[in-house]
Amino acid sequence: MERGSFLSLIESIDRFAVGIFRQFLIKEEDNRVLIITPNEEYKKWAMAYLATKLKGFGKSIVVECEKEVKTSPTVRKNNLLDKYTFDNFVVGPSNELAYKVCLEVSKNPGKLFNPVFLYGKSGLGKTHLLHSIGNRLKQTHNVLYISLMDFSDAMVKALKENRIEEFRESFLNLDVLLLDDVQFLVGKERTQIELFRIYEKLQAEEKQIVLVSDRHPKDLKDVSERLISRFESGLIIEIGLDEETKRRIIKQKLILYGLPLDEPTVNYVLENTGYNVREIEGFIQTFKVTGFKPKPNKENVEKKVETVINLVAKSFKLNPELLKKETKERKVINAKHIAMYFCKTILNLSYAEISNLFGKKDHTSALYAIKKVEQKRTEDRKFQYMISFLEKSLRKSLGL
Ligand code: ADP
Ligand code: MG
Repeated sequence: MERGSFLSLIESIDRFAVGIFRQFLIKEEDNRVLIITPNEEYKKWAMAYLATKLKGFGKSIVVECEKEVKTSPTVRKNNLLDKYTFDNFVVGPSNELAYKVCLEVSKNPGKLFNPVFLYGKSGLGKTHLLHSIGNRLKQTHNVLYISLMDFSDAMVKALKENRIEEFRESFLNLDVLLLDDVQFLVGKERTQIELFRIYEKLQAEEKQIVLVSDRHPKDLKDVSERLISRFESGLIIEIGLDEETKRRIIKQKLILYGLPLDEPTVNYVLENTGYNVREIEGFIQTFKVTGFKPKPNKENVEKKVETVINLVAKSFKLNPELLKKETKERKVINAKHIAMYFCKTILNLSYAEISNLFGKKDHTSALYAIKKVEQKRTEDRKFQYMISFLEKSLRKSLGL
């Protein structure tokens, strides 16, 4: 039956009622009509009306009010956020490929690149790109953006309520599935099974699937082989952030916040932020309120840095002087990275300052060292424990 036929039918029998029905969200599918009313009162009215006036319509009619829709495993909105579009995505060498592939997907869903697996570190625009695809397609296609966690929660709920069939079916009429944060599949067996079923069905019908993760499919440990091999069967693209792109993004965000675009401002943001657009945005927001922070008293800072170096060196049983020199010795390098990390997280020094203090020329050395420590913290529990312990002692020594 063609779209809008339900409303045409109502119009033909009752001109007054059609005005009320037009206020509702109506979705016509092959064998059912779903009517979503803004509240319970309207739901009651619609149900009573349909029961008396529309017998033998030929399709099943389901009426739900908005409150129910939010908790139903079957019916949901597309979850798209309007603010993320291709137009406001800044493109540079490190994200150009991801951008172009996503743009192509939005022009020809299910055709050239399917599935697409996009991965990269946090804050690099993966979610932004997923929404951009959805926003381009939402008028013409049945699109759903969902994070793996929400998928998993809805599945658990559906299982509890004995509505798993409904849950599965709700994905099968999609043209485009945009699944975010699939790294959370790790260790979730039942979620993997359900996703696999849906995935296979959508793929068989050449429906577009775009997956986003913080790591490459082969680094998804504790995820079933068959899912990994499906993920690997598509186009896998890494998204990154290089200095040139970062500079462009900073400029775009400065304009957005009505701030000047002069070199000192751009450099100030560049040197005080890492390679994470979320961090850059946060920094610019604070900068808008506080402006340039005056450089702290140099002697004072040096004393604090000495305290950091001494304490870290002591815990590694090393001579503190070693940490300020060039070295190839693994143990010293590790200690040095940790000391640099604390200069950022506790002393709040800029990357450029930290690099200088440790005898390096440009700010990327500190960035690299700090990133390494952050990464190890997430991967190694023992290391995480050691860092927390050191941090506590340091804060105490520094009187913070
Ligand atoms: P991820 O999903 O990779 O962790 P997000 O897509 O959530 O990152 O991006 C974090 C923030 O940075 C968002 O506000 C997003 O709009 C912004 N952002 C990321 N990359 C870009 C870019 N290339 N251009 C403009 N904004 C970006
Ligand atoms: Mg994200």
